[in-house]
Amino acid sequence: MKTIEDFNFENKKALIRVDFNVPLDTDFKVTDTNRIEAAKPSIIKVLEDGGSAILMSHLGRPKGVKNADLSLGHICKTVSEVIGVQVKFIEASVGELAEQAAADLKPGEVLLLENLRFHSEETSGEEYFSEQLSKLGDIYVNDAFGTAHRAHASTTVVAKYFGENKCFGYLLAKEIEAIEKVMQTGEKPVLAILGGAKVSSKITIIENILDKVDHLIIGGGMTYTFVKAQGGKVGDSICEDDKMELAMNILRQAEEKGVQVHIPVDVLAADDFSNDANTKVVDVDKIPDGWQGLDAGPRTLENFKEVILKSKTILWNGPVGVFEMESFANGTISVGNFIDESTKNGAFSLVGGGDSVAAVKQFGFQDKVSYVSTGGGAMLESLEGKTLPGIAAIIG
Ligand code: AMP
Repeated sequence: MKTIEDFNFENKKALIRVDFNVPLDTDFKVTDTNRIEAAKPSIIKVLEDGGSAILMSHLGRPKGVKNADLSLGHICKTVSEVIGVQVKFIEASVGELAEQAAADLKPGEVLLLENLRFHSEETSGEEYFSEQLSKLGDIYVNDAFGTAHRAHASTTVVAKYFGENKCFGYLLAKEIEAIEKVMQTGEKPVLAILGGAKVSSKITIIENILDKVDHLIIGGGMTYTFVKAQGGKVGDSICEDDKMELAMNILRQAEEKGVQVHIPVDVLAADDFSNDANTKVVDVDKIPDGWQGLDAGPRTLENFKEVILKSKTILWNGPVGVFEMESFANGTISVGNFIDESTKNGAFSLVGGGDSVAAVKQFGFQDKVSYVSTGGGAMLESLEGKTLPGIAAIIG
């Protein structure tokens, strides 16, 4: 794996794909600088080597049309503050203006290009547009994991115009290493905790992961499809009747592969999908009609704790309850605490994909787990076993 560490950028121009798709308030101020901070180490490395950096990103979904509200010009000041260098901004991504601005860059300087998605050629991965982009730098650095699952011009196609002069930035390299630690080189026992709403959205992950893990915890809304498939009564809980056969098949496959599956044994059930609903703890397979399971129960959490504490590698994707409502957040918070404890005991823990990161941040677990992925969709596709086009383009 070729990373930014393998290059000396002295007198070189690095064309860096970053993910500056940051939230803006109504005054166009950046409300969360995490993604800019995440790209900082790669940019600093280039500057400290004596090179210059040309930063390219998308912002929002302008769908190929110029849209002043989504100009990256709005974030230039914040990028300068975070990086500690006065960043130049140019209202172009390709063409004469961009080429001139890139050519004028001196070592130590940083140029931010306009929103790539003002051009429909970006998302269609058009060759000519990619070639135009490639003219701006000597070395291509991809540091945007959040878009690595897209075969766009700046994330994938552009790489082929750089020959050997292409690499992963620090952030993307860390993401790849974290995924490898779980999927390939993780110390045993390896545990995956899969929660979230539906079996259908996680099925490819489950099937792929059965070959990699020793234990599988199934939680959240997915639980009830498994329980009903085994003959349990799930009341009004979320359940995909058309996926019950699939659920049984997963359980059979797990048994064949020697994977221990841990499904909730009790749940906190509610008489309404509401924070103020009446609640009671019931066995997972005896949920009365009119009641729905919205969080993991106490005996379940004891079981989960035991598995989490004995695991040496842990992947967590998806909440084990409706964590957005305070009354049903306990299970997800407890799982986070168990992972925290296990990580302190030496386990490697990775959280990522879809909504998991939101849950982790809401409860302040981001500093307690080993790694929180920055890419929702990209992480899900990695866990499904897909090779991401942005990564394949560098590995070649
Ligand atoms: P996902 O994006 O698939 O990871 O699903 C996350 C969503 O699953 C969250 O918004 C949770 O509220 C939801 N969820 C978790 N447990 C349940 C449950 N028992 N019933 C309904 N929704 C749930």
